[in-house]
Amino acid sequence: MLRTSVVGFPRIGAKRELKTLVEAYFKGNISREALFSGAQELRRNHWLLQKKEGLDLIPSNDFSFYDTFLDMACMLNVIPLRYKELGLNDIDTYFAMAKGYQDDKRDVKALEMKKWFNTNYHYIVPEIDDSIEFKLNSSKVFEEYQESLAEGIETKPVIIGPFTFLKLSRIKTNKDFNELLLAVLPVYEEILDRFNDLQVKMLQIDEPAIVMDLSSAKVNSFVNIYEKLLARKGRVKVLLQTYFGDIRDIYKEVISLDFDAIGLDFIEGKKTRQLIRQYGFPSDKILFAGIVNGKNIWINNYALSMSVLDDILNFVSRDRLVLSTSCSLLHVPYTVENENKMETYYKENLAFAREKLRELTDLKQLLQADNYQENLIYQANQEIIQRKKISQDFFFTDVQAKISSLSSKDFIRQPSFSERIKKQKEILNLPIFPTTTIGSFPQTAEVRKLRSDYRKGNIGTEQYKNKIREYIREAIKIQEEIGLDVLVHGEYERNDMVEYFAENLRGFLITQNGWVQSYGTRVVKPPIIFRDVKREKAITVEWICYAQSLTNKLVKGILTGPITILNWSFPREDISLEETAFQIALAVKEEVMDLEAAGIKIIQIDEAALREKLPLRKTDWNSEYLDWAIKAFRLVHSSVKAETQIHTHMCYSEFADIIKEIEAMDADVYSFEAARSDLSLLDVLKENRFCREIGLGVYDIHSPRIPKVTEIQNILNKITAKLEVPKIWVNPDCGLKTRGMAETVPSLINLVTAVQKQRQML
Ligand code: GLN
Ligand code: ZN
Repeated sequence: MLRTSVVGFPRIGAKRELKTLVEAYFKGNISREALFSGAQELRRNHWLLQKKEGLDLIPSNDFSFYDTFLDMACMLNVIPLRYKELGLNDIDTYFAMAKGYQDDKRDVKALEMKKWFNTNYHYIVPEIDDSIEFKLNSSKVFEEYQESLAEGIETKPVIIGPFTFLKLSRIKTNKDFNELLLAVLPVYEEILDRFNDLQVKMLQIDEPAIVMDLSSAKVNSFVNIYEKLLARKGRVKVLLQTYFGDIRDIYKEVISLDFDAIGLDFIEGKKTRQLIRQYGFPSDKILFAGIVNGKNIWINNYALSMSVLDDILNFVSRDRLVLSTSCSLLHVPYTVENENKMETYYKENLAFAREKLRELTDLKQLLQADNYQENLIYQANQEIIQRKKISQDFFFTDVQAKISSLSSKDFIRQPSFSERIKKQKEILNLPIFPTTTIGSFPQTAEVRKLRSDYRKGNIGTEQYKNKIREYIREAIKIQEEIGLDVLVHGEYERNDMVEYFAENLRGFLITQNGWVQSYGTRVVKPPIIFRDVKREKAITVEWICYAQSLTNKLVKGILTGPITILNWSFPREDISLEETAFQIALAVKEEVMDLEAAGIKIIQIDEAALREKLPLRKTDWNSEYLDWAIKAFRLVHSSVKAETQIHTHMCYSEFADIIKEIEAMDADVYSFEAARSDLSLLDVLKENRFCREIGLGVYDIHSPRIPKVTEIQNILNKITAKLEVPKIWVNPDCGLKTRGMAETVPSLINLVTAVQKQRQML
């Protein structure tokens, strides 16, 4: 029987209920019981919605209070001693791992956090050291399954497979990968036993790590562990779910293993169809075909999907086919229905999570129809697709002319860094270890209310601007009092570093409720790039110049870079990412030139999301992404004067393997998040003779804990041991917007104090 399924459903809720709930618990405003029952209600709503939309196979355990990878770590008892020793209950231990823990006596940092493959979701990185003893430590997955049964829904529980779990964990023991796989195997076997006891019909095991480049040793590891594990599956049908690409390095092996079903990505998996054509698909297995894009928000083109499905049906019989999403719907917003201010003209082109459920049901219906082209659902879909294609609304001829007239010198800044930096040192006249922050200051409830009042029209422009100026004055005053060297205006006018620029450039569509989880309780609202991008007016100049007018110290102008704007938006699919990146770069460049003309001497262009869309396979890195991404950044600053100092900031990702490309961005100063990953970047910078100026984050801003002076001094010692003093800047890991003033001020005071002590010592 032809069926439908999704890899996972967004857990955050239509109105961000999960965020509200968990944050209320953090603040101590609700009890543990209220937290749990609120979560239960959310799960129930999501299951019922999926059922209502006609989905056949509904996932469970895709819910999480913070992160499903962290859930998996707890399930396997991968809880480092320092968290166990806090002696907290289960849920508080869990939150301590996620966000750190601090009270009068104790002070434990959070686990590291990393980007989840090429998405803007971040997972908590489990830490496996010698003290870890794998054992079944949580019954969440079983309870949620039973909970779904009680709602009359037989769900398919989802867990992360052992291969991906270990591959993405931080291994701090001498045991090798295969030993660890064998060590964790008994827990997975026990999980299967428990599912057999519960008479679960199908278990989904996520193994996205196999879409990456795999050595033959890793292929063997995978095969070995699953030969063993699948021997214990009993009556439970096991679905191996992959996503974010194709599994070209292991397809042959995977189809000969004893999985009952295999989930493949037909959207990002460029070779998925070819693999099936070449090696076939076993007739005893079920194919979960990911044909509805789980990452982007455009409606599915039924003509394209039907042709892919036609092709698939040459290899898989209809009763062994399940129509599914390319990845979890975690990465798209909840529903277009909540966009009640958006014009139909835009809306009809969009499909969020709920609409994607409907698309799956539609496609199932079309596949069952005798002549799908006659079907009204099909025709309505094709009409929308056609309307958009012929509309002239998506193009600006002036933008396209600028793009086509770009030549190689538009991407090269003159003179070279070594000459520029001399001039900059003279003009800027900063002390050694210049101190600064990354840009945003705490976004208090009051600041957020101000912006929302303005947005709603409750207050007028002048009133709004006066208030923002007041915040800027305060921020400048506080920074001067603290004694920072390079000041910022605080970014009070920005709700979000990408959305703000998207709102002020043409070509973007901003949603009202298009929230997507970024990590834990943090959600973002990615703008949609709907047409060609251009800048029609200055965006930040007014604020930054105002801040500069208040102080004799230097104020650094902060902008968001083109790659980050692109990567944190939902991109067009009708023109290339490269072309879109250049369009945005030209717009940001105009802002840079205006800031320079207005006398701003230091301009930071944030590229927090540079790595995000890096292809998962190394062989594609340069040709498919880095070549144009780095060029786009260079385009932004290639025309500034030698004296103007260009900074960039990057965070929460691996930099080691792209450090050469990062240097090729040709900024003068780089600030990197580093505190949560133990400064491991230091060696990388040293080994690669990274010659720019560098500010490694000296404390983690995702946690409310206040770093001690000695702690920062220790970090500075480590840094000076490896980098030359004249190159070193000192700053927090990232922007301070998620923090409160109460911890920000003492943290920055400690930062400056530590620097003063170090300066004295030198
Ligand atoms: N300038 C931004 C800020 O300070 C940078 C944020 C980020 O890197 N994510 O908030
Ligand atoms: Zn950052």
